[in-house]
Amino acid sequence: MTKAASIPLDTALDAVPGLPAFSLKMLNSEGINTVGDLVTCYPTRHEDRRSLAFKGFSPGETPVCHHVRILKTRVLRFGKGGGVFEVVVEAAQNNLMNQQLTLRWFKMTFLQKVLAVDMELMVYGKIKEIKARLIMDHPDYEVVRDEEDDATAKIHTGRLVPIYRLRGGLKQKPLRAAIWQVIDQLNATCIPDLLPKPKTAGEFAGMSRGKALLTLHRPIEQSDLEQAKRYLALEEFYLMQLRVVKRKLHFKQTRGWSQPATGSLATEFLNNLPFTLTEAQQRCLEEIKEDMAELQPMNRLLHGDVGSGKTVVALAAMLIAVEAGQQTVLMAPTQILAEQHYANALRWLEPLGIRVSLRTGSKREDGYSLGSAGRWPASAVDSTAEINAVAPLPSNEPHLLIGTHALLYGEESFARLGLVVIDEQHKFGVAQRTKLIDQGRMPDVLVMTATPIPRTLTLTLYGDLDVSTIDQRPKERGKVITAVREITKVEDVTKFVLTQLDEGRQCYIVYPLIEESEKLDASAAKTGFTEWSKRLAPNSVELLHGRMAPEEKESIMKRFRKGDIQALVSTTVIEVGVDVPNATMMLIHDAGRYGLAQLHQLRGRIGRGTHTSYAVLFIAKGDKESQQRLHILEETNDGFLIAEEDLRRRGPGDVLGQAQSGQAPLCFGEMLADTRLVALARQLAMRTLTTDPLLLKEEHANLRPFLQDINTSMQMSIQ
Ligand code: ADP
Ligand code: MG
Repeated sequence: MTKAASIPLDTALDAVPGLPAFSLKMLNSEGINTVGDLVTCYPTRHEDRRSLAFKGFSPGETPVCHHVRILKTRVLRFGKGGGVFEVVVEAAQNNLMNQQLTLRWFKMTFLQKVLAVDMELMVYGKIKEIKARLIMDHPDYEVVRDEEDDATAKIHTGRLVPIYRLRGGLKQKPLRAAIWQVIDQLNATCIPDLLPKPKTAGEFAGMSRGKALLTLHRPIEQSDLEQAKRYLALEEFYLMQLRVVKRKLHFKQTRGWSQPATGSLATEFLNNLPFTLTEAQQRCLEEIKEDMAELQPMNRLLHGDVGSGKTVVALAAMLIAVEAGQQTVLMAPTQILAEQHYANALRWLEPLGIRVSLRTGSKREDGYSLGSAGRWPASAVDSTAEINAVAPLPSNEPHLLIGTHALLYGEESFARLGLVVIDEQHKFGVAQRTKLIDQGRMPDVLVMTATPIPRTLTLTLYGDLDVSTIDQRPKERGKVITAVREITKVEDVTKFVLTQLDEGRQCYIVYPLIEESEKLDASAAKTGFTEWSKRLAPNSVELLHGRMAPEEKESIMKRFRKGDIQALVSTTVIEVGVDVPNATMMLIHDAGRYGLAQLHQLRGRIGRGTHTSYAVLFIAKGDKESQQRLHILEETNDGFLIAEEDLRRRGPGDVLGQAQSGQAPLCFGEMLADTRLVALARQLAMRTLTTDPLLLKEEHANLRPFLQDINTSMQMSIQ
């Protein structure tokens, strides 16, 4: 095997010698047409099949790989649609212990046509012990040595074997063999780098794209593999950062409004508040003011833990826009939140002569209309003097508009949109944000997050924004004490809740689903409501869930806020933003089903007054895993710490949820928990873009195809 020459990455696969026709066809049908396409099919993991000396089957939490032989198979049938395919196996080599292992596949009885006695398999999965039987459920498996010659055996065993993600008609072994075949004809030094050359010292010294790709498909040592994966992750993050940093730089070059604070309204508002801003709130407001005064549009993230007081900062910013003669919009993710913001705005802002309007799907009764204000001149206005020269806002137009998504799809458009505030951003996608922005002319934008986000994700998801962090809570807050309890303790908890209700406090009781679902076996809010009504009698208990009519929800929230309702049984509709300071208790059923960040967000609804608050997280009896996972919530109230832990445990896919939609899935996403790596990618992207803003110089020719991708995906997200 000589590697002096190398086939170029854009070589069509049918020009590569040695690829079987059926593999070729299958690859082409999945859109894998060139050598480059093939080598960027990354393995999702590797199995160490170098030494499969049998050390026994032993139960444990980590998945293990074994080489086994099938002793018997059988199909068990029960219930409707049920059926289990069971395979009993023994070690294929060095089987000195005579141990047996049972492999089980539920609802996959068709496997009886695939697996038969005497076949040898590579299996990968967790082994557990049930009633003295060792069992592996739904293992990944691969048939060994059926109609396979020795030449190809070395591809599939005896090394650190890559396991690829399969799609369509692709099968593991032919795909692996095809990649092996192609790698044979590649020379690492001929594969161009995407990343700028790494420094001669440090983690990535001597690394290159070619070397990393070859190592990934054909690692020799585990340590090389780790390094290669990190290099490719860095590369992936770098491309992503190029995209966000590019967008950021682009914003910086556009012209919006200059909205200098004249001080009158915002200051009056702040002076009227029953509290003073924390230092962190003040600092963030200053940063926002400076941005708004600039001619470039503001694109800022206001980041803070639940209850850190983002709303007042946003309202002050909105008043600055009003001072500058502009209109401003506050968008909330749910109707309940929009109503709440509206109530606050009426209370705080109407006395200052501000006209506030609420637009949600169901409500348009305040009589204000939009869009009649004289349009601004086509070119942006540079100063307040010029703004004031434009006709004043007609008195039938609101200064401040509050609403939900519905705002995006209404007919009306804003004539003078100076500032858009988007609350609890994680419920919105980039596309929605852009749509609203498009209705005005480059307004200032302030995005508020619902939960603290780990730094790496901030750089990734909000990398095109400047960030202000409220890293301090208002002082006179009561503590929140959190306890994880097995559901069998519900009687004790009820007693405690009753004493608190007697003292005049209120309680949230949260359930994960609206209706009993067979599949998830979750306790539902409706059933829960009946139970808790009895337990807490004679206190007034009400039910709130997402499928109720908006008016009904609103009236229940109103009564809860007024204290007419003592306990509110609800689904997670109360998750974001709801603010009732007298509610000091929260019981969360089936807490094991939630992520840490979501639980933290939920309990952020309590501890808003001066009283000590209590959150009880109910878990199933004996659920050790949840007990352990949720323990951090008992330990700390620091949302940033919790978010980091959540990211480490669950991986970014789950943590990002909807926020990630519209972005390509990451191959090395799990490394997003690595702050250093993401920060390095950011640095490199900054450097590339500032030293070569057009990215068109010869040295970046390799990046060009990737940047074309970037441009199209940006356009897509803007539609
Ligand atoms: P979040 O940051 O979670 O959106 P909010 O803006 O809803 O939090 O604020 C939570 C509560 O704290 C509100 O009742 C708000 O009026 C109050 N608040 C905000 N800032 C302060 C402060 N500096 N001191 C005391 N209370 C404050
Ligand atoms: Mg809020």
